[in-house]
Amino acid sequence: MDSEDRCPCLSGETYGACCGRFHAGYAAGVWPTTAVALMRSRYSAFAAGAADYLLATWHPSTRPVELVLDTETVWRRLDILRIKGGSPFDERGTVEFAAHYRHDGERGVQRESSRFVREDGRWYYLDGEL
Ligand SMILES: [Zn+2]
Repeated sequence: MDSEDRCPCLSGETYGACCGRFHAGYAAGVWPTTAVALMRSRYSAFAAGAADYLLATWHPSTRPVELVLDTETVWRRLDILRIKGGSPFDERGTVEFAAHYRHDGERGVQRESSRFVREDGRWYYLDGEL
């Protein structure tokens, strides 16, 4: 994905100015400061195929050993439905979202309520309820 492309999270920003800066900079400490920003950047990571970023932002207690992204799924749109907590001053946050995709020409939507925790100043994805 090019940094001048539209960010997959549809913030209206370019990829490079939005989620792409986390995908490129997380190892150097460039990390989202809110749970919803992490949520958006993880959605974009699925869309951009950034499996390393998904693993890095997954809490170690629930992180899978490896992650193989389904390249047949095309992520089309993210709707943030509800946010609880998740500010730079919280320790926990919940983000409810609907992620729209296409798979084998069929449209689908994944709805999830994701839980996030903040440790050492960084937000991590913990788990989600469908
Ligand atoms: Zn974005």
